[in-house]
Amino acid sequence: MAAAEAVGVGGLAEIAACALAPAVLLLAPTRAAALVRGPALLRPAAEVVPLPVAPALDAVALRLPPALLDPGTLRGLADPTAELVLPDPAQPIRDAPPPPLASAALALAKLARLLPAVVAAPAREVPDLGLLAVGAADVLAYPSAAAASLRPVAEAAVPLDGAPDARLVAFRAADGGVEHVAVLIGRPDEAARPGGRAPLARLHSECFTGDVLGSLRCDCGVQLRGAIRRMAEEGAGVLLYLAQEGRGIGLVNKLRAYRLQDGGLDTLDANRALGWGADERSFLVAAAMLEHLGVPRIRLLTNNPDKLAGLAACGIRVEGREAHAFAPNGVNDGYLETKARRFGHLLA
Ligand SMILES: [Zn+2]
Repeated sequence: MAAAEAVGVGGLAEIAACALAPAVLLLAPTRAAALVRGPALLRPAAEVVPLPVAPALDAVALRLPPALLDPGTLRGLADPTAELVLPDPAQPIRDAPPPPLASAALALAKLARLLPAVVAAPAREVPDLGLLAVGAADVLAYPSAAAASLRPVAEAAVPLDGAPDARLVAFRAADGGVEHVAVLIGRPDEAARPGGRAPLARLHSECFTGDVLGSLRCDCGVQLRGAIRRMAEEGAGVLLYLAQEGRGIGLVNKLRAYRLQDGGLDTLDANRALGWGADERSFLVAAAMLEHLGVPRIRLLTNNPDKLAGLAACGIRVEGREAHAFAPNGVNDGYLETKARRFGHLLA
C-alpha cells in the first residue's frame, strides 16, 4: 500500500510489479460520500459514479480505470482541497469489495497524519523491493500500546508569566513517537491525596495556530492561558499539553479543513470530508500521564462532556467539571456555535 496523497510514479510501478490483483483506492467512507456529493472544491463532481456508501463501513474501495491510476488524480481523489481533473471523456470509477485489511491500511495512514486514502493491492513476496511489512493487528493496537508505554523522560522548572511555580514534565512512548508535556502548577499530586479537594486539570490539544500565533479561528490560545491562570489562582493544577493537533488530525490536515470551512463547511463536516472522524483523540494518553504524575483524581476544566466520560472510562476519578468558556472574538463565533450545536459542548 502507499498513501494516495504522496505516492509517485515509481511507487505505483512498484505496487504493480508485486501485485497479485489490480490495485484499488481505499477511502474513508466519509471522504467517499463527500466525493459523491461533490463539495465546493471538487470538480467535476458529476463524472464520479455515485457509490453506495454505507455509513457502517470502515473503508470504501474504488477500482480506478488504468488512466486514472496516476499520482495527480489520486491526490485529487484523496484531498478535497486539491484540484481533481478527470480526463474527458469521463471514465467510470466503480466501487469494489474492500479488501480484508482495508481498515488497518487507512489507520496506518492516519497514524502518519496522512489523509486516510491509500492505494492497496495484495502482494506476492518480493524481497528485493525492500517493502516494509507490518501486521494489521499491530497497526490497530498502536494507539493504546503507545499510550500504555508513555513514561516521563525529562522534567524542569519553567516559571510562567502569572504562574511562577510551574514545572514541565515531558512524556515519550517506548518507540519514540510524539512527545506530550504536562504543565504542573504548584503540587497537584499533593492536592490529589485523599481528603482534600481534587486539583484542577485541563486536557489541551496542541494548536500551533491558536496557542503560538494567537489565531482568531479558534479559542485554544485563550483557553490555554486561561487554564494556567486559574490553576495559579488556586495554587495547584495540571495542564496536559497533548500532541494531538486539530483534534488528532495533524496541522497539515487542520489547514486543509480550514480551507474547506472557508468553502462553507463547518468544522465537523470539513473533518469528515477529509476522511477523518469528528474527534480522533484518545483519552488513554491523558489518563496514563495523570497516573504517572500521581494525580488520579481531578476536577476537569472543560466544556466538553465527552472528556468527563472518556477519562472516567480510562480509570481517572473526575470529581467535577469546571466551566471554561470564553467570549467569541468576532472571527470564531461560528466555530464556537458548531462546538455547542454539533459537538455538544456546554458553552451557555
Ligand atoms: Zn485551536
